[in-house]
Amino acid sequence: MTATIAKTTCPYCGVGCGVNFTIPDSLTESVPSVSGDLDHPANFGRLCVKGSSLAQTLKSDDRLLAPMVNGEIVSWESAVDTVSAKIEQVIKEHGPDSFAFYLSGQILTEDYYVANKLAKGFLGTANVDTNSRLCMASAVVGYKRAFGSDTVPCNYEDLELCDLLIMVGSNAAWTHPILYQRIVEAKKQRPNMKVVVIDPRETATCDIADLHLSIKLGSDAAIFSFLLQHSAQMDILDNDFIAQHTNGFNDALMQAMESTPNLVSTAKFSGVSEQALMTLAHWWEKAERTVTFYSQGVNQSSSGVDKCNAIINCHLATGRIGKEGTGPFSITGQPNAMGGREVGGLANQLAAHMDFATPGAQKLVQRFWQAPNMATENGLKAVDLFQAMEEGKVKVVWIMSTNPMVSLPDTAQVRRALEKCELVIVSDCKANTDTTAMADVLFPATGWSEKDGTVTNSERRISRQRGLLPAPGEAKHDWWAICEVAKRLGFQSAFSYHNVHEIFSEHAALSAFENNGKRDFDIGHFCKITKEEYDNLTPVQWPVLKGRPEGTKRMFEDGRFFTPDKRAKFVPIVPVLPVHVATPEWPFTLNTGRVRDQWHTMTRTGDAASLTKHTDQPYVEIHPKDARQLGIEDKTLVRLTSPYGEALLKAKISRAVSPGNAFAPIHWTQQFSNAAVVSNLIPQIVDPLSGQPESKHAQVKLEAV
Ligand code: SF4
Repeated sequence: MTATIAKTTCPYCGVGCGVNFTIPDSLTESVPSVSGDLDHPANFGRLCVKGSSLAQTLKSDDRLLAPMVNGEIVSWESAVDTVSAKIEQVIKEHGPDSFAFYLSGQILTEDYYVANKLAKGFLGTANVDTNSRLCMASAVVGYKRAFGSDTVPCNYEDLELCDLLIMVGSNAAWTHPILYQRIVEAKKQRPNMKVVVIDPRETATCDIADLHLSIKLGSDAAIFSFLLQHSAQMDILDNDFIAQHTNGFNDALMQAMESTPNLVSTAKFSGVSEQALMTLAHWWEKAERTVTFYSQGVNQSSSGVDKCNAIINCHLATGRIGKEGTGPFSITGQPNAMGGREVGGLANQLAAHMDFATPGAQKLVQRFWQAPNMATENGLKAVDLFQAMEEGKVKVVWIMSTNPMVSLPDTAQVRRALEKCELVIVSDCKANTDTTAMADVLFPATGWSEKDGTVTNSERRISRQRGLLPAPGEAKHDWWAICEVAKRLGFQSAFSYHNVHEIFSEHAALSAFENNGKRDFDIGHFCKITKEEYDNLTPVQWPVLKGRPEGTKRMFEDGRFFTPDKRAKFVPIVPVLPVHVATPEWPFTLNTGRVRDQWHTMTRTGDAASLTKHTDQPYVEIHPKDARQLGIEDKTLVRLTSPYGEALLKAKISRAVSPGNAFAPIHWTQQFSNAAVVSNLIPQIVDPLSGQPESKHAQVKLEAV
């Protein structure tokens, strides 16, 4: 029997590994298989356990196969009519902001583009937010404050070329396994390379750490504030770079000297030993090639943006940016968090990396789209959006490819919000999730291996996810469903795409529209991409400027940033602890994260039998000392209570957490057990600048059941 091998991209994490997908000639006699793509620059043939198990997830007994309205199967035509009529009615009666999209870092750039265009250009609302808000919104604002744009400077090669790698708030060994394997390999090749892990927990990533700083939850910024002032004291500043390419250094340094005046005060604030802090400072002094790799442990915080800028300040001060093996590197959690950012898929973005505040941008986008109802200001960010639903301000929400009933903080509030909406539309592959249970209208969506389009990974690399298998039942692409609704609303010509190639080239053309070198991040090279070229697109790093088809490996090599005067900006930072720290009434601080073999709310990975073996039950990690005091034994049931809700989890007694802290993974849903949903416990506290929830910190009580 013969087979076809096609190249596509893994749908799970932000590493964005290339996958060879082998399709047998007869799908009835044989099943597809996957292997790592040797040619893909993210993974060079490797796949982690999640990626390797993709073939096991292709068939599901719980596939949503037909549109449904109020629990009844209906035709697509009827479902689209219902949705468009309701959107039309609420906008007429209550204005454009009574409608909202809640999207996902799982959907493709082309889906994002069309949703953003419909809402911001044609319906007149910027209420387009996404679960990427829970993932990397703080990193976006941090980059924007410092560089004038949301731009990741580094690439994966820099992780292998650096002499010092500082990993902050990341358990990459489990969450970004292929990057972790690349780092392990690099360290083997160059044993002098140092790895420092800054994390309250002793995670699997610490296996390669030369130093682990087990900091007090949320105290990260103090470490970098200390490194900034230490760099000045030790005379390792890059004074030429500071003078020629930055603004605001003195203010940032003065603040660092005030906030973290010395080793003793910093050690006390962050809860690490002076000796460990001094070791880090010493390595920082010596290693010109330093990358700081950070993830959700930094971003999911009420001061996440400041933490990002504390990190960036250190790199700017020492000129460790825009060169091989250097840079502040935010690693996104999701496969297309970056692609969504490129087309404006957040409520505070407009389109093509322009904001509502960008002078002239709103009119420019309106001209390009020939848009009749342009939104004029930022929409509501995820938590605010769900609060507006509960207040009755947002009346219709269209949720796509995400499960906010499990992933957003304070699930009781999310339930109240969805119950209050007049119409909840959910597009999903699965029939039965905690969120589809709240839907009035269900749209059956195509999933990985059926969907077609592009994604952008953490190093800005655009890759194709290819539609290789036929869509089952009545499942349709998300962009198609959006266009059908748009056409019913009277916007036929603007949404008459025949395929994703047409959408992608329009997105490229918008990024280059009336640009003439004024904006630095268009992908104008792709404006005239043919369908054949798009179909055969090989992975390339954004931005792909006109005349530079090879893309852009590293940003800021010329020391020019995207601010009006082309200088990067230092931001003075005052380190603070999380809003909710332990109190006598709530004596424990709960930290959240992931397990090695599951992804998000397990809607796909839960279908792979081999992946459930690693961890088959939700659990809470508790330090042995605390467990003794509370009379809790390993594997016994523990009740966790917070001011927002309750969860019942099995105890895992472990020294990985410090006394007074607990840790629980986020994957389990109400379908497993309502008592297993960890988001029940999390408050809706957000970073004031990014709107990203402080999902890593909840005050809880623990008791044996
Ligand atoms: Fe997929 Fe991420 Fe694993 Fe790569 S590291 S195979 S992208 S889950």
